[in-house]
This record gives sequence, structure tokens and C-alpha cells, in this order.
Amino acid sequence: MNNTKSTIQGFEVEGVHITKVIDTLGSFSPKVLYVDKDRSSFDPHIDWLQPHFVDEAKGMLLSIHSFVIQTRHHKILVDTCVGNHKTGSGFPQWNNRKGNYLEELVAANCRPEDIDYVFCTHMHIDHTGWNTRLQDGRWVPTFPNAKYLFNQKEWDCWKNSDDAADKAVMAQNILPIIESGQVQWVDNAWSIDDQVSLLPTPGHTPGHCSVDIHDGSSRAIITGDMMIHPVQIAEPEWNQSADQDRALAVATRSAFIDEHCDRDVMILGTHFNTPTGVYITEHNGQRRIRF
Ligand SMILES: [Zn+2]
Repeated sequence: MNNTKSTIQGFEVEGVHITKVIDTLGSFSPKVLYVDKDRSSFDPHIDWLQPHFVDEAKGMLLSIHSFVIQTRHHKILVDTCVGNHKTGSGFPQWNNRKGNYLEELVAANCRPEDIDYVFCTHMHIDHTGWNTRLQDGRWVPTFPNAKYLFNQKEWDCWKNSDDAADKAVMAQNILPIIESGQVQWVDNAWSIDDQVSLLPTPGHTPGHCSVDIHDGSSRAIITGDMMIHPVQIAEPEWNQSADQDRALAVATRSAFIDEHCDRDVMILGTHFNTPTGVYITEHNGQRRIRF
């Protein structure tokens, strides 16, 4: 579905249309994401991870994208990627970017002014970047008519951080939204409408929520960073370096995989490369995916 012309990909849940819009896509050394792993760690899984999720050099293919959910009632943007012109990141490639995300969004039939709600699964840099854009030297909300649904528990975790990179994210991506008056504070039990609800999946961060999309018997779940790569479906105990509470992250991930294995629930991976929407299956006692 991906090609050089456009990176837009669509998914259907009965009554709901979901569109993936990519900000950036890259190959990463496993060590960057899983501190105690290396390229050979993928060997037991290489047969089912290549070519979509691991490249020929055994680099992890990771996509940073948004999902636009069009329900009967609302247009909802989930996760806002890295953004443009940001500074202060510990990842040099994410500083002073000049990507064409907004053009891609419009090509996906979604103008910034059309968005009713923005929800960030958590407040890391690659999930909050396009909350704001630089205009005349100031950070302003990218989505002028949207309510930004900020999870109070997540904000409580970050608002007093002393880390310079965290402070940069808050100053550029979060505080300008709070100051604009466009925030609606929510908790883990929030439903955006009758087709979209938050699903608490803590561990990666304390207030981390996945997004549950449902209509009739049809269902899809956006992972956020509860898992960042399909390998974690087979290896749920693989912690990401950014998992704040490692034991809770493993428990959350394991329970999620158990619950949704061999069920008719599409798992939309927030960093899964195309095809991105997968189903969890069990095969000879091993957890795998189909798509
Ligand atoms: Zn992420």
C-alpha cells in the first residue's frame, strides 16, 4: 500500500473509517529500542518479520504515523508524531525537521480545521509533535477547531520533569495547547463518542491509553507504545528502553496479547510499518500475526 507517491493507508471497522498518515519512517538498530538486544535477537522471528517489519540488515522498520478516525459523529486524530521545526530532542534527526505531514493529511481528505478531537496516547515527543506548529515565532495549535484530549494522569507525570528533553516537549507541544484553552482534561475511562473509547494500557508511561474503536461486532485497537514492534507479540517481555515501569509494561502487554489472540480484533500498531493493521494468532504454541 505504501509507495513513493503517498503513504496514506486506510482501514475499515464497520461504520468507521481509519486512515494512517505517516510523518516519518526509518530503520533502527534494535539496541536503540531494546537495550539488551541486537540484530541476532531477531533470528528466531526473521521468517515472519521480514520484509515488512525488519529489513535485510535486520534493522527494525518503525513508522511514526497518526490515525485519523472518521466516526458517524467526529473526525478524531490519534497521535501527532514528531512535527516540524522542533528543537531540544535527544534524537538529532527529530530536530528542525521540515516534513510534509500536513500535506499528507490534506491528501488524506483531512484539513487541520476539520479535526474535532486530538488524542495523544501519551506525551512522548513522537506522539505530540504536530499538536503545534510554528507561526511567527510562536507555537500555536495546528488544529484550530479541535478539542485536545489530555489525560490528567499523563500530564501529572511530565509537568514537573527536570529532564531538558522532556521540558522541550512540554514547552513546544503541550503548554501552548493548555494556554490556548483548547484542552479538555480526560481520565482513563473516557469515551470520545459511541464508537471510540480510551483503553488504559499503563507501563510505557503512567497515563498511557490505547484507543478502542468499535461498532457492532467489529473492533480495532490502536496500540500506542504499549507495543512498538510486532516482535513484542511473540516476545511480550521485551521491554523498550522508554518503558517507565518495566514490570507493569510487560504485564499490560502480555494480558493484551492473551485477550486478543485469535479474536476478530484488528491491532493497529502505532509504529508498525505497512501493513500496520494485524491480527494476533497462535501457531504451534507461538504468538504470531496475520494480516
Ligand atoms: Zn512512540
